[in-house]
Amino acid sequence: MLYSYAGHILVIDLTTGNIEKQELNEDYARQYVGGRGLGARYLYDLLKPGIDALSPDNILIMMTGPFTATGIYACQKYEWVTKSPLTNIYLCNNTGGSFGVRLKESGYDGIIIKGASNTPKYILIDGDNVDLQDASSVWGKKVSETQRAIYEMTKADTIVCTGSSADLPNPVKFAGVYDGHRCSGRGGLGAVFGSKNLKAIAVMKPNKKIEPKIYNPSGLKDELSELIKDIKKNEVTGEQLPKFGSIIWMDTTAQFGILPTRNYQDILTYEDIEGKIDTTGYGKKVVKSKELKAINCLDCPILSGHVVIPDHGEWAGKPTKGPEFETSWALGANLGIIDFGHIISANKECNEYGIDTISTGVAIGFAMECRQKGLINDDILEWGNSESVIKMIGKIANREGWLGDTLADGVRSASEKIGNGSNSFALHVKGLEVPAYDPRGVWGMALTYATSIRGACHLKSWTVAAENSKDYIPVSTEKKAKLVKDIQDLRSVMDSLIVCFFAGRAINKDWIVRLVNVVTDFDWTPEKLDEIGARIYDLERMISVREGITSKDDLLPHRIMEEPLNNGQWKGKKITKENMEIMLREYYKLRNWDENGIPKRSV
Ligand code: SF4
Repeated sequence: MLYSYAGHILVIDLTTGNIEKQELNEDYARQYVGGRGLGARYLYDLLKPGIDALSPDNILIMMTGPFTATGIYACQKYEWVTKSPLTNIYLCNNTGGSFGVRLKESGYDGIIIKGASNTPKYILIDGDNVDLQDASSVWGKKVSETQRAIYEMTKADTIVCTGSSADLPNPVKFAGVYDGHRCSGRGGLGAVFGSKNLKAIAVMKPNKKIEPKIYNPSGLKDELSELIKDIKKNEVTGEQLPKFGSIIWMDTTAQFGILPTRNYQDILTYEDIEGKIDTTGYGKKVVKSKELKAINCLDCPILSGHVVIPDHGEWAGKPTKGPEFETSWALGANLGIIDFGHIISANKECNEYGIDTISTGVAIGFAMECRQKGLINDDILEWGNSESVIKMIGKIANREGWLGDTLADGVRSASEKIGNGSNSFALHVKGLEVPAYDPRGVWGMALTYATSIRGACHLKSWTVAAENSKDYIPVSTEKKAKLVKDIQDLRSVMDSLIVCFFAGRAINKDWIVRLVNVVTDFDWTPEKLDEIGARIYDLERMISVREGITSKDDLLPHRIMEEPLNNGQWKGKKITKENMEIMLREYYKLRNWDENGIPKRSV
């Protein structure tokens, strides 16, 4: 028997309309836990290598974890896995909101979606009654309009959906999926929805909640009363995140000398952003609102999201969720726009069309540099010009004009079309656009981007704080392979249970083991956690290896590898091929992967 699982998954074939309730594979749950790990295990079995990610052959999986619906604070997210149309490799995304909890309370640990419908559909889940409903009336609609319309039709408690960009005949390759104000943006999950003619999934609040059976209920109660104290007394989870959300990392990234601007051509110092797009600037935009709980995740005392009000554009005056740090970098600092007013409006535009803010900002930065270098003709794109950014967001989301259509496929594809050496500043790894930390001043992030399982991603191993502690030298290869591997393995487990990345400051490895051992009978130790993390990472790598990924793909863009930083405290620093090889060799050895980056263990 499995404690803390619902014990069933939904399997929905959109081609045939067949819907089945299947038993959860207990061995898989014990080996791969839930969320990301369990989703990857099912994907490994079901996904045929080499298929087109936007064909009916792609498989879409949503999984909760053993912490879901247990009331454990900041642990109520859920995970999506699929093959990405942007990178053509494995994709995993975790999302906040309420979908995971409501699904598990309805009796399911996850959903596997196969095939494609001939006509637009949404899935309606009401306990054991699961139906495919006609979504023609909301096809092509933006996110909030879709959520409102489906709510009117169903009165569902939770609605996850795509925006208009996913419903195009050729969906934007980085279209996302939205749970209320929470977004699963990276890698084109929404495009996979669109290719399957799937607009949304709606879950009714169950009349009778199915609560997971907890292994040690009184132990859980005791642990929760201790955990809340640790969350509150931790400076990051108890003070900084509740006040400023992830914008706290705008300040530190600038202070550490690694906040890039103008498509990584230069670095912004803290003085450049002070009082404007730092925590102080953000604090001025936050408003008190009764919407606060609704924009945050269920059962989270941290409440890292805030309500802000766009001051111009179509959404002016309407309260919305404040932008995260990565968004504020991609749509603001990266484009030379040091103004939260603009960032809030640009974020809202992206979230309504349903496109990933990081990929959108990096794609626009790439196009601005192409124009700067005379490689494209465009009369609106210009560094620091917020109007041109808002217009370009609309063009990308609608695939309007040659440039909008080109950028909607991501910077890897755009640089192949534009040519003329533009690939040297097309900032992506394996097709996924880079986030906000310039690795030239923090070399562990170079290895992180190169080896992250879904392409350039900061979430799978964020080394910035560790590398700026007394134990490390940021611009050195020393000890970086072990640091990156250890964090990646821990994150694999956190994404499988599922523990919010932000809460990880308080919910550390010891806490995770304690919590696992009260909700399940898994009897974990810290060593067991490490072993499971490495097993999940190997499995995910194997899914991408089947798609052709090897060590030749664990590379960074030319700009980061070979162009020295122009300014800032790390002026003159670059990674170089030799340094990457040193870190990668050590990393493969620690992972027990061969020199081609292939795991030696069999799945
Ligand atoms: S810290 Fe923020 S993102 Fe994490 S669970 Fe809480 S509200 Fe959600």
